[in-house]
Amino acid sequence: MGLFPQQFIDDLRLQANILQVVQEYVPLRRAGTKYKGLCPFHSEKTPSFHVDPEKGFFHCFGCRAGGDVFKFLELHEQVGFQDAVRMLAQKFGVTLPEEREGASEDGRRDGQLREGLLKAHEVAAAHFREQLAAPSGARARQQLRERSVNAQTAEQLGLGFAPPSRDGLKLVLLKQGFTQALLLQSGLLVQRDSGEIVDRFRNRLMVPICRDTGSVIAFGGRSMDAEQIPKYLNSSETPIYSKGRTLYGLNLTKAAIRQSGFAVLVEGYFDFAQMFQSQAAPAVASCGTALTSQQAQLLRRFTSRVVLSYDPDAAGEGAAARSCDLLVAEGFDVNVVVLDRGEDPDIFIRKQGPDRYRERLRNSQPYLEYLLDQAASGLDFGHDDSRRRFLGRMLTVASRIPDAAARDQFADRIAHKARITEDVVRAEIRKAAVGRRTAVTTRELPSFGSMKYAEKGLIWGLIHNTKEAFAALAELDGEDLESLAGREIFELARSLNNGSLELLPSSLLQRLSTVNAQLVTSIAATTASPAPPLECARALKRIRWERDRAAIQREIDRLQELGAARNGHEIDALWQRKKDLLHRIEGLN
Ligand SMILES: [Zn+2]
Repeated sequence: MGLFPQQFIDDLRLQANILQVVQEYVPLRRAGTKYKGLCPFHSEKTPSFHVDPEKGFFHCFGCRAGGDVFKFLELHEQVGFQDAVRMLAQKFGVTLPEEREGASEDGRRDGQLREGLLKAHEVAAAHFREQLAAPSGARARQQLRERSVNAQTAEQLGLGFAPPSRDGLKLVLLKQGFTQALLLQSGLLVQRDSGEIVDRFRNRLMVPICRDTGSVIAFGGRSMDAEQIPKYLNSSETPIYSKGRTLYGLNLTKAAIRQSGFAVLVEGYFDFAQMFQSQAAPAVASCGTALTSQQAQLLRRFTSRVVLSYDPDAAGEGAAARSCDLLVAEGFDVNVVVLDRGEDPDIFIRKQGPDRYRERLRNSQPYLEYLLDQAASGLDFGHDDSRRRFLGRMLTVASRIPDAAARDQFADRIAHKARITEDVVRAEIRKAAVGRRTAVTTRELPSFGSMKYAEKGLIWGLIHNTKEAFAALAELDGEDLESLAGREIFELARSLNNGSLELLPSSLLQRLSTVNAQLVTSIAATTASPAPPLECARALKRIRWERDRAAIQREIDRLQELGAARNGHEIDALWQRKKDLLHRIEGLN
């Protein structure tokens, strides 16, 4: 959210022609009412970068970068939103207003809070670095040496040390004028049950976690002693830090990732440190949990090829498998490096060096192949039962592959492996894939990253058929939106309804988070509407009512089990509500 008055930004956007701006960086060819060119954000040979001057957005079908004219400058010039505004104003000869003047009170407070939190983290990072260099950091330095992390790497990663004292950082921060309230919110300090306020990180090796632009937004603290728990203590979520939207190390490797065309996904800070120090390959770390679709989209700005390099015991299961499945579903090419049992990239590189590691990378196996092997190993395909189990597991994965040709190819591999006819497997996969797509009429609850077909239709409408989409959106209430993947987008669109409809697509794109703006442009860049907005809104309404109805039914079942006689009154009331809902659902058809 900008600190410039919104009116100014809206006016500037009207004057700043996106086509003119983009063309300074990218040669574009006209294609109908749109323009096409080679994407500046990933390397490609056939143009998948599109600009829609009429609606004021760009989108790349290859790497999914997308947004309005401000976003283009942010990405291309690697600047923040404020700087993008300044650059555009200068280019188009528009005088900048006094910054912050006219910004809403809330917006300003929000901006100030974030700024304060970022500053506190900056001071904390510097403090931890100083402590690592100080005499008290001797043991931490020794531990880094034992892990073969040299001084230069430690400096580049910004590593530090939090001494065992309870208020070392607290005193530094208070002295710098930060309020206690802000520091508690930053998560750098914690309040104990006794009321005492102390440093969160004590006696830990400190790893700063940064945005991809480089600002420190959180820390991971590794224990110094075996008995210290937890082994890794991480910052809590704050207004500037969301674990699910951050990839460790991306700020340091993003240029190399773009250049080499792939990223190696590793598990921990020290895997990353070793990869980075030895320059084995550009890496990012997921830090133990399964990737979220936001993280996948973040990575997508830099590459669409990922090599997973986890401990081999973990590669086929748990968080690693979920991450791979998600990446496949997001259209990434995913490979898996298999190291020896008990070895992670950190240990492997220290023992065998970066050249051997790169050799393993070159021999990495496509994830889907790897899965096939894993799932097939130990199964006897002479048994129907084994074949069915194998097919079941593989179908789930296959149905998520977004590209039809790649899906068919995988089907053929499955068929070959399980000795089933190709046509049968292809048909099964198609069935499974369609089942996922026709979510409009199902009661499927949104899981992360899954956006309903109807939501996409509504989003497409917001950009291309604004008036109708708006009318459709007005039919939905807060509860309808509550569990939708696109909730933030819809809520924001609704909050903009007092502006002009014509400006809505661009105001929406500008105010959305990067991830959501990309989502919107990726949907808007497709040429045909997924479905009419009103129909989509009704489908979403139906989904919610169906869900309510199921909840009522569960409650009825529960009460009946407790004794229908005793709860007759309540059960009757619930039956009535269920009937009303049914009536309303039928009314939608
Ligand atoms: Zn691209």
